[in-house]
Amino acid sequence: MEPHAPSYYAASANPFPVQPRLVGEEQADVVVIGGGFTGLSAALHAAEAGYSVILLEAKRIGWGASGRSGGQMIPGLRWSADELMGELGRSRTAELLSLVNSAGDLVRQRIARHAIACDLRHGHFHAAAKPKHLEAMRRELDSLHDLLGYSGASIVSKADQTDFVGSPLYHGGMIDMNGGHLHPLNYALGLASAALNAGVRIFEDSAALQVDHGTPVRAATAQGSVTARHAVLAADSWMGDLAPGLARMTMPVINYNVATAPLDPALALSLMPTGAAVADSRFVLNYYRLSADNRLIFGGGEKYSPRPPADVAGFVRPYLEQVFPQLKGVAIDYAWGGSVGLTLNRLPQFGRIGNSFYAHGWSGHGVVLTTLAGDLIAQAMRGQAERFDLLADLPARPFPGGKMLRHPLYVAGMLYYALRDRL
Ligand SMILES: Cc1cc2nc3c(=O)[nH]c(=O)nc-3n(C[C@H](O)[C@H](O)[C@H](O)COP(=O)(O)OP(=O)(O)OC[C@H]3O[C@@H](n4cnc5c(N)ncnc54)[C@H](O)[C@@H]3O)c2cc1C
Repeated sequence: MEPHAPSYYAASANPFPVQPRLVGEEQADVVVIGGGFTGLSAALHAAEAGYSVILLEAKRIGWGASGRSGGQMIPGLRWSADELMGELGRSRTAELLSLVNSAGDLVRQRIARHAIACDLRHGHFHAAAKPKHLEAMRRELDSLHDLLGYSGASIVSKADQTDFVGSPLYHGGMIDMNGGHLHPLNYALGLASAALNAGVRIFEDSAALQVDHGTPVRAATAQGSVTARHAVLAADSWMGDLAPGLARMTMPVINYNVATAPLDPALALSLMPTGAAVADSRFVLNYYRLSADNRLIFGGGEKYSPRPPADVAGFVRPYLEQVFPQLKGVAIDYAWGGSVGLTLNRLPQFGRIGNSFYAHGWSGHGVVLTTLAGDLIAQAMRGQAERFDLLADLPARPFPGGKMLRHPLYVAGMLYYALRDRL
């Protein structure tokens, strides 16, 4: 069985027993395909609603983005409230954003209810890379306040930013206490344990090779199959392989993270004094946080070829040292990459194919939204689809260029935005 990527997370994972491979014919009410946050949350919520559930994972639980991510709980969507209002109007935007903003609490409730040891910490600081980004944050906060009475966040001036991040690079930012950060692999493994306790049968090393979306649904693996009333497609970056009709809707892009050696506690405190996670406002962003043992976990950099760099730590290091010159030469203990499922407009895509449900294309904002997605999918199965449809009705456009050309066209687009970051 393919092990987890050799990351800091794999090295500090809580024990979780290997689950069997699917062999033979099985039946359930629901078959979930993919054992990341989306699939695990959908399986858990469906089991709690009384469905019998089988979850198929191609590798190991948390093997995909969920077990490798930056672990940042970033509030909201990638569109501002004003952009959403331009598309959806005021009242639908208010409904959508209050639903999306409930996602952080859902994660915190799950962690508390199942006593998941995943180093949860509170607070997310959005650092302004340019003065005009701080102005945009101010406008966003005004809109959120006006629309929802949102009071979880506040603007931090340049003079006060060292309360949150010890870097010379920024022009202030926004601190949002609805955000936070966690050990993502341990959160995934905790959800999986909760799912097992709720009666979900999990099969690892059991890739679904084909899914028939008829009545009943049938998912076939190399050595078995599951027949069910509903399927949940939760394979994110690999969704195109599973549902070819969706292949042009997302683009897998590899992103790289490093974890330094544990830092002296006083040095760690000076980097992020409140312990809040930080992400900057550049299009090609840097994002970072402290682990429970005071390592800096840092993600960033621009890499447009799907081929991984020969030296991942050497690739990420310059971005880290630009943000924190005081860490020049710091020892890096772990370096890894993972696949981020992007959509063209950076909004997630929810939908149905026959009796199957899908939710994917988190575009780097999946840590909190995925738990909500699982809840909404289970509600939609029970016939309560209003909240699922709020997300399913978001605009979705395919990447231009088909399977062959979408990557070169995407690279051209990214280079344009990366250039704008530098101006
Ligand atoms: C390096 C990195 C950093 C990130 N940082 C952040 C962050 O800080 N904050 C944030 O909000 N988001 C972040 N993200 C994004 C976030 O991790 C994802 O949006 C989220 O984990 C997606 O969860 P998922 O369950 O939908 O997909 P995944 O976690 O990718 O799970 C999909 C699973 O499906 C399995 N699978 C694939 N094909 C099949 C098949 N045919 N049959 C069975 N199983 C299959 C895969 O093995 C995988 O385990 C990051 C992602 C990466 C890669």
